[in-house]
Amino acid sequence: MKKVVVLGAGYAGLKTVVELQKQCRGEVEITLVDENSYHYEATDLHEVASGNLSASKITFPITDVLDPKMTTLLLDHVEKVNEAEKTVELAHHQPLKYDYCVFALGFVSETFGIKGAEENSLPMTSVKEAEAIHAHIIDRMKDYQQSQNPADLKIVICGAGFTGIELAGALADARPRFAKLAGVTPDKVTIDIIDASKRLLPMFNDDLAEYGVNLLKKLDINVITEALIQEIKPGTVLYKGANDEDGAPLHEIKGNTIIWTTGVSGSPVVAESGLQQRRGRVMDSGHLTAPQDDKLYMVGDVAAVMPPDGKRPYPTTAQIALSMANYVAKDIAARVKGTSRPGAYTYKSLGTVASVGNTRAFGEASGHSFKGYPASVLKKMIMNKSLMELGGFKELFAKGRFDLYH
Ligand SMILES: Cc1cc2nc3c(=O)[nH]c(=O)nc-3n(C[C@H](O)[C@H](O)[C@H](O)COP(=O)(O)OP(=O)(O)OC[C@H]3O[C@@H](n4cnc5c(N)ncnc54)[C@H](O)[C@@H]3O)c2cc1C
Repeated sequence: MKKVVVLGAGYAGLKTVVELQKQCRGEVEITLVDENSYHYEATDLHEVASGNLSASKITFPITDVLDPKMTTLLLDHVEKVNEAEKTVELAHHQPLKYDYCVFALGFVSETFGIKGAEENSLPMTSVKEAEAIHAHIIDRMKDYQQSQNPADLKIVICGAGFTGIELAGALADARPRFAKLAGVTPDKVTIDIIDASKRLLPMFNDDLAEYGVNLLKKLDINVITEALIQEIKPGTVLYKGANDEDGAPLHEIKGNTIIWTTGVSGSPVVAESGLQQRRGRVMDSGHLTAPQDDKLYMVGDVAAVMPPDGKRPYPTTAQIALSMANYVAKDIAARVKGTSRPGAYTYKSLGTVASVGNTRAFGEASGHSFKGYPASVLKKMIMNKSLMELGGFKELFAKGRFDLYH
């Protein structure tokens, strides 16, 4: 029986397992490795960071969707894949041998080497980190009662990409709760979001991007663009304006909560494994396999797939991670059964919707633009669809977003 080792139980890894369990019953032995016993919906991390949802609402036990006759879950930290020996090295178990390996270890925060970013700001790439952000904000708000230091009431988000904007919206919803803890009116709790670009949200057309930015401004979120972050000191973001002369004094934004959402790169295990990569991503060579090893599949945020006419790879999203997983399961099933393999992997986006808090969103799907409350319903439907694909009805009914009427 062929041994399939799947690394990571996020969107890409868990979906691959769910599909292999359907398509290769009795034909493969699967070992799934993750450092957590739960799957988490990474697309909802900002809801945990803001405290609008508890971690239990965006997670479910991985074993809920495993068939114990086919799949073993190993809780461990993956250190490295040795493609020459076809083994995976783990922190606490013996190396695992594989016939096929699916590498789906997701993303980490990217600081681009900016001084002080790692030490003095809070990343948001896992449930633990999202919970740490929420706990930090709560502590600052409570501290304010004693300190009366205005910096305790200031939240600064570095990076106004999709993640930063969704986080800003969720924090705006939570602002009255934070203000109550600090004993102030909500307008005293400030949210700044800062980005190097002039034109935010490049994944949307001009109209939608402008709508999104205006939505933030209406929620009293201070949007600062063309700001090149130079350094993060404790409680201070230092940046250079795009048009500032060289040597001009840097601008400062004070805030005792600084959150880092400027971007992500693929898992550092990609580089550890000696794979050809850029920012932790391996360029697809057709069947989503690594160029050096056609038994090693790179799926989700560790893969870079070029659109046919594109200059830049598709953005890494949960949507493309699920689509890659479907493809990889089909390809492995064909190889195991000796039937003809599918053609090279292709992707068609179903659209993108960004939420700005619980009842507001904007985006496009099937060629149509959506704004405001209808877009927020669509966003929740999209999240429910992905939950259904991974966890079936059980997780959909337990964790789905059905708070559609307000
Ligand atoms: C706040 C936020 C909002 C987002 N919104 C959207 C959205 O609306 N739509 C969309 O399509 N995408 C969205 N994304 C992007 C999306 O979440 C990612 O593209 C997606 O999670 C990638 O899936 P993945 O399976 O590659 O990795 P992940 O979902 O990150 O899963 C990786 C898994 O690997 C495990 N792991 C990692 N390293 C190790 C290790 N060394 N050893 C063992 N286990 C390990 C982790 O525990 C995790 O279970 C959002 C992301 C964020 C942060």
